[in-house]
Amino acid sequence: MAGTKCIITGVPGVGKTTVITEALTRLEQMGVPYANISFGSFMFEMAQRQGLVANRDKMRLLSKDDQRLLQEQAAEGIARIDGNVIIDTHASVKTPKGYLAGLPEWVLEALKPDLFVLIETDEDQILGRRFCDPSRVRDLDTFRALQSHQSFNRAIAAAYAMKTGCTVAIVTNADHLLERATGDLVGLLT
Ligand code: AMP
Ligand code: MG
Repeated sequence: MAGTKCIITGVPGVGKTTVITEALTRLEQMGVPYANISFGSFMFEMAQRQGLVANRDKMRLLSKDDQRLLQEQAAEGIARIDGNVIIDTHASVKTPKGYLAGLPEWVLEALKPDLFVLIETDEDQILGRRFCDPSRVRDLDTFRALQSHQSFNRAIAAAYAMKTGCTVAIVTNADHLLERATGDLVGLLT
């Protein structure tokens, strides 16, 4: 059986990894296991091998061509994984030259997603979460810049749906309501 390929996205600091980790535990208990693949980790491994960056948060500062090459290499590797898969990635990446599509045509063709999920919440909550995460070098965006990034991500998700026929679901990960976000994601994956 081919399995379900689900792409999960959200701006940095929205709590994607947290929601995915919680959902995976529940899915495992329900007997519906999913492999958890981080697109960024695949890219970072390639980038390190090629001596391009020392820190995963620096990849978005590489040239567009370098980022595209890493994207291609990651997509090729991930496309080989069978069964139920969650791919933790970004609808778009904020670079100094503008938004870079996280899933340009050749990446979509390799991954063939069934379901596309946008994890969102209010901008003030995201700003607070970024501020409180010393483990990452997150952008210190303004409220407006974040709003613009989240709205760009909805727009580009519509383009991904047009290209692939995948469905697009929005999961809200509001403060103190992680349980609800997890339940919503589990519902989409079962
Ligand atoms: P993450 O750990 O998910 O925040 O990803 C770390 C970094 O990986 C991001 O800041 C991007 O530079 C890169 N990355 C992840 N997914 C993609 C993608 N689909 N296209 C381009 N870059 C990506
Ligand atoms: Mg993450």
